[in-house]
Amino acid sequence: MKYISTRGETPPIGFKDAVMMGLARDGGLLLPESLPAVDRNTLNSWRNLPYQYLALEILTLFIDDIPRLDLDALVERSYRQFSHPQVTPVRRVGDLYIMELFHGPTLAFKDIALQLLGNLFEYILTDSGSFMNIIGATSGDTGSAAIYGVRGKKGINIFILHPEGRTSPIQALQMTTVVEPNVFNIAVRGTFDDAQAIVKEIFGDLEFKDRYHLGAINSINWARVLAQVVYYVYSYCKVWKTGAESVDFSVPTGNFGDIFAGFIAKRLLPEGCINRLILATNENDILARFVREGEYATGGGVTPTFSPSMDIQIASNFERYLYYLRDENSEQVRRDMAAFARTGTIDLVQFKQRVQQDFAARSVSEAETIATIAEVHARENYLLDPHTAVGVKAAMELKSDERPVICLATAHPAKFGAAVQKAIGREVDLPPALADLTERESRCQVMDADVDKIKEYVRLHGLS
Ligand SMILES: *Cc1c(COP(=O)(O)O)cnc(C)c1O
Repeated sequence: MKYISTRGETPPIGFKDAVMMGLARDGGLLLPESLPAVDRNTLNSWRNLPYQYLALEILTLFIDDIPRLDLDALVERSYRQFSHPQVTPVRRVGDLYIMELFHGPTLAFKDIALQLLGNLFEYILTDSGSFMNIIGATSGDTGSAAIYGVRGKKGINIFILHPEGRTSPIQALQMTTVVEPNVFNIAVRGTFDDAQAIVKEIFGDLEFKDRYHLGAINSINWARVLAQVVYYVYSYCKVWKTGAESVDFSVPTGNFGDIFAGFIAKRLLPEGCINRLILATNENDILARFVREGEYATGGGVTPTFSPSMDIQIASNFERYLYYLRDENSEQVRRDMAAFARTGTIDLVQFKQRVQQDFAARSVSEAETIATIAEVHARENYLLDPHTAVGVKAAMELKSDERPVICLATAHPAKFGAAVQKAIGREVDLPPALADLTERESRCQVMDADVDKIKEYVRLHGLS
C-alpha cells in the first residue's frame, strides 16, 4: 500500500515513510493510494475477534512494509496498558449504545492512536538507527496522551509546551508527573496560542528542524486515523451480534479526525453496515454548518466551551474528506485550499446531497451539554463527560427508529470535573490508576514565551 498526498505533489511513499512524514511535503495530508474494502465473508470471520486481533487484521490491509509478526507485537504492546480487557467496550445506555474510548492511560480516546503511534515511531527509528525530537503544544488532552505514548522510548525525546495555569489541574498533572528522562514538560508563561505559535516558528526553521529531526504528534498523522478505524469496526461487530445489520455512529468532533476514521470504516465495510455518521459539535460549529449548508466557512474566533478539546475553528483533517468529495482530484483540492486560505470559505454547495448521505450534523449548546449530562445521569445512572454529552445530545435528536446509534465516549468524566459538578452537583473520583496523581513526583520547566529560549532548551536537552 502506497500513500499519496491530497495535493498530489508528493511521490507515493510506503506506510513507514508516511508515519515519519506526518504532514505531506507539499502541505497536503497523506492518504492510501486506494481504499481497501472487505467483503461479507471476511467481516463474518472478524465478528468474534478480540480487539487486538481485529486491529491486526485491519492494519494489515493498510500496511505492507512491516512484517506481520512485528505488527502483532506493536499492537499487543499498544493496548495491553488499557484498563479494560475489551479495550473499547460497548455498553447499552437507555436506547443508545455507548462505546467507551477512555480506558487508556490518560483517560481520553487519543490514547488509542497515540499508544500505537509511539510504538511505531520507536520501531521505525530503531530499525533505521535514527532518533527524533517531538515538539508539540497542547491545551490539554493531546499533550498527555502523546507523553504517555512515548515515555521511556528509545531514540525519542518529547517536548510538550502547555500554557502555564491554563489547562485543567488534572491535565497539567497528567503531563508533569511523567518523569522519565526523555520527557520534557515546558509551562509557557502565556496562552495556548503563544505556545502554538512558538512550535510553528520552531518547525519553520528548517535548518533546526533537520538538525534535530523534529517530529510532530498532531492529528494529521495517518497512523492516528488508521488506529481509530479499528474501534468503529469492533463496535459494529458487537452491535451486529445483537441483530442489527446497519448502525449509525455519533461522534463529538473538533478536528474532523475521529469522524474521518469513521468515514474510512464506512468505506471499508460492505455497503450499508455503517449508515450515517452523526457529526456533533459544540458552539464552535464550522463542521455542522458545512454539513447543513454545504459551505465550509470559518465563523470568527474560537468560543471557549465545557468541551475544550473541540474548541476549534479550522478542522485540520477536513482536507482528507474534501479529497474524496472532489473525486480524488488533487488539483481541485489545491485550488480549494488556496481559496480557503484567501477567503476563509470553500463553496461545496453542489455536494450537499452527497455530504448528507454520509453525515447528519448538530451543534450542541453549553446549556444542552450540561442538561444532557444531568439527564442521562438521572435516568440511566451513567455519567458522561462534556465531549461525550455533545455527541449523545446529537444522537438523541437525530436518531432514527430503523437502526441503533453507537455514541463515541471520548473522555472519562473525571477529566472534566467542573462541567460534571455543574450538571450533578458533585465531582467524580479519578479511576484507581490515577487516584494518587497529586502525590506523585512532578517535573516541569516554567519558561517565558520566547522562541529563542525554548530553542536553546531543546538544543540542550534534545537528542542529536
Ligand atoms: C480531541 C478530542 C475530541 C475531538 O476529536 P477530533 O479528532 O479532533 O474530532 C473529542 N473529545 C475529546 C475528549 C478529545 O480529547
